[in-house]
Amino acid sequence: MDHFQLKDSIVHCEEVPLPLIAEAVGTPVYVYSSATMRRHARVFREALEPLSDPLVAYAVKANPNAAVLATLAREGLGADVVSSGEYARARAAGIAADKIVFSGVGKTVEEMRLALEGGLCQFNLESLEEARMLAEVAHSLGKAAPAAFRINPDVEAGSHAKISTGAAHNKFGLPIDDALAAYRLARTLPGLDVRGVAVHIGSQLTSLAPLERAFAKIGELIRVLRADGHRIDTADLGGGLGVPYDPAAPLPPSPEDYGEMVRRLTDGWDVRLIFEPGRLIVGNAGVLLTRVIRVKPGVVHPFIIVDAGMNDLMRPSLYDAWHAIEAVAPRGEQWVANVVGPVCETGDTFATARSMDRVEADDLLFFRTAGAYAATMASTYNSRPLTPEVLVDGDRWAVVRERIDVEALIKADRIPYWMQP
Ligand SMILES: *Cc1c(COP(=O)(O)O)cnc(C)c1O
Repeated sequence: MDHFQLKDSIVHCEEVPLPLIAEAVGTPVYVYSSATMRRHARVFREALEPLSDPLVAYAVKANPNAAVLATLAREGLGADVVSSGEYARARAAGIAADKIVFSGVGKTVEEMRLALEGGLCQFNLESLEEARMLAEVAHSLGKAAPAAFRINPDVEAGSHAKISTGAAHNKFGLPIDDALAAYRLARTLPGLDVRGVAVHIGSQLTSLAPLERAFAKIGELIRVLRADGHRIDTADLGGGLGVPYDPAAPLPPSPEDYGEMVRRLTDGWDVRLIFEPGRLIVGNAGVLLTRVIRVKPGVVHPFIIVDAGMNDLMRPSLYDAWHAIEAVAPRGEQWVANVVGPVCETGDTFATARSMDRVEADDLLFFRTAGAYAATMASTYNSRPLTPEVLVDGDRWAVVRERIDVEALIKADRIPYWMQP
């Protein structure tokens, strides 16, 4: 459920008509619904009841906007961060340090130091080499770093190859067969307090089966580790639950089904569970609003050239992702068309031979399900301004990231001294 609906023939975000935002801010622009984010945070938490005190650590990389983080912080969510930048943003948005999990395959000494000094729930370590580095850093600060090993369970996630992370050939995690040896060695390192296991097998999962296989392996590993004398207090089950993009595709598993599966698989684990949902919380809470520059005839279907490009929304070119594209003020006619951006790349194509609302130059269109892995991946390729973001709450709205214009881009560049007059 989201809050982007037709009212009096115009699509609104909650109570705000999208054309109003387009006029005031310009296009392209991301628009987020607070009510949708709050609802998803609540639905996910309710689906986990009656687990005792789980930590829901929102995966900041899905959408790190300060206003988004502040909205979720007020819902009691923690944060899963993968860089010092995300750590700093989460703290600045009011997320308590003890609700922050630090993930990521390439944490640096500086990042470890920052999080140790600022505090956190735990580091999710991806190798023994990383464990040694963290132990050294923590020891030099006179601390013991709370940590878990992220286990690679060798399970195929069944989603797009670029967002599958839990197969043996992927770069992520410690191979499950090496886990026992790693926990044994880590226990000998001063400065390290390993007391958990973690797993995250991929994103946009449309079936619970791979998660179930991964969690079963983790349950068995917890049993083996405990039998070997290790203390395991936390199990981080990662994120990955898919959201509906294409209404014609089968619905991904619901949070309720996921919660039921988690309760069944983790029964008797006797740990605090941690979850890292990203897309599920914000995916359907955002749209990308764009204006049609012109319609150009095509050999087979017309090309709708919109003012949003692959630099604003990378998912179609990066992941072959499908986004619903609809008119803000539908004319009541459908046609088949290609939707493309103005960037000089053939990959700057959002939809090919799509049945959709008929539009003309100057009409507004919007891409649904653009709240996750969208604005955060925007770039200024083709010297295009960085896309602004707007947050709606009921009948109120505000720009929550201003458009970073070309003036600012030019100012950030430097002419070297030897080329100056
Ligand atoms: C990206 C990521 C997530 C979030 O994945 P979603 O599919 O957005 O839920 C969670 N944990 C880790 C370690 C990640 O890298």
